[in-house]
Amino acid sequence: MSWFDCVELGPPIEVFQLTRQFTEDDFPQKVNLGVGAYRTDEGKPWVLPVVRTAEKALANDETLNKEYLPVLGLETFSAASSRMLLGADSAAIAENRAFGVQTLSGTGALRVGAEFLARHLDKTVFYFSKPTWENHRLVFLNAGFKEAREYRYWHPESRALDIEGLLEDLRNAPEGAVVILHACAHNPTGCDPSHEQWAQIADVVKQKRLFPFFDSAYQGFASGDLDKDAWAVRFFVERGFEIFCAQSYAKNFGLYNERTGNLTVVSSNLANVAAAKSQLTLTIRGMYSNPPSHGARIVAHVLNNKELFEQWRGNIKTMSSRIIEMRKRLREALEALGTPGSWNHITDQIGMFSYTGLNEAQSLHMVQKHHVYMLKSGRISMCGLTPTNVGYVAQSIHETLTT
Ligand code: PMP
Repeated sequence: MSWFDCVELGPPIEVFQLTRQFTEDDFPQKVNLGVGAYRTDEGKPWVLPVVRTAEKALANDETLNKEYLPVLGLETFSAASSRMLLGADSAAIAENRAFGVQTLSGTGALRVGAEFLARHLDKTVFYFSKPTWENHRLVFLNAGFKEAREYRYWHPESRALDIEGLLEDLRNAPEGAVVILHACAHNPTGCDPSHEQWAQIADVVKQKRLFPFFDSAYQGFASGDLDKDAWAVRFFVERGFEIFCAQSYAKNFGLYNERTGNLTVVSSNLANVAAAKSQLTLTIRGMYSNPPSHGARIVAHVLNNKELFEQWRGNIKTMSSRIIEMRKRLREALEALGTPGSWNHITDQIGMFSYTGLNEAQSLHMVQKHHVYMLKSGRISMCGLTPTNVGYVAQSIHETLTT
């Protein structure tokens, strides 16, 4: 008899399971398009040169030590993060209504923010896009939310945003519900609202007094332009909304396992900032006490140094350009093969992922027959494509759709 007899086996996490299967597969032409991590043209993981530079400087800095950071983290990091998100000329920052809290990457920012909303604002209902990053549901439910609801987002027939469905679902939301919005490079579809559509979304959010919780996991990584990728968040803030925004440095700094993130909070009233900070401090204190320093020091070192900041922008350009090039090549290869269907969505979508339009059976066929590892939803990570394997992947898609 064990205390644990009552514990049921939980479902596997698809993306981690896929990586394991990929590693165990000895097929020479296997391709991993599952995990969202950048790869070079040679298919190798990449530590950004600017990160190497920062790490060397930090290693040689004898003034640094391993003592605890404050509960809310390294302030030179969180302030620079919020400035990068909201813009150097942000009125919310100038008026001290906006601040940042260092978190355990983007996931940690979502978790801390969600727990604060559930505990202190009595929020119970949250909305996420259909589809979304598969962790949103779990993070918010574990943080104390009671009800997960979807808003329509992807229109499979047109392979584009279902803006009418989205607006209708948000119009039907209960007043005060929290709505998770992807700041840019929507995961998994790679399809973002236009500026006009964001304005329509903002109107409904205002009308229904919804609370916008942005998730920014790809700033700079999506288009290569940090300001462009922050447009939607800045638009909401300039329109006077109070927001939360979870920022991740996993992709744009390549700091995946350093768990480096920031929760940016924008309040409309400076008088509320001290209380909010004090409660966020207690939330974090009771969760993991205080964050790790390594990744935050790297990011702070780069963001607060003009020369390194420019170098970082160059590194981001390298990553985003390679992805854009792979999108072009995959589309060209499919069109050259005459693969049934239209493939413009591959180049229209932005960011790390592409929603191919392949259904579950076809996606499984890609894995089982061709050893091209992709999610059941038809999502592929563009980062896994290289000049060497893109032809093989296109042929595999072609075979899958024509047999
Ligand atoms: N949100 C979205 C939409 C993501 O795609 C990711 C990364 N896969 C995250 C948040 C958070 O990732 P991390 O915790 O590694 O920063």
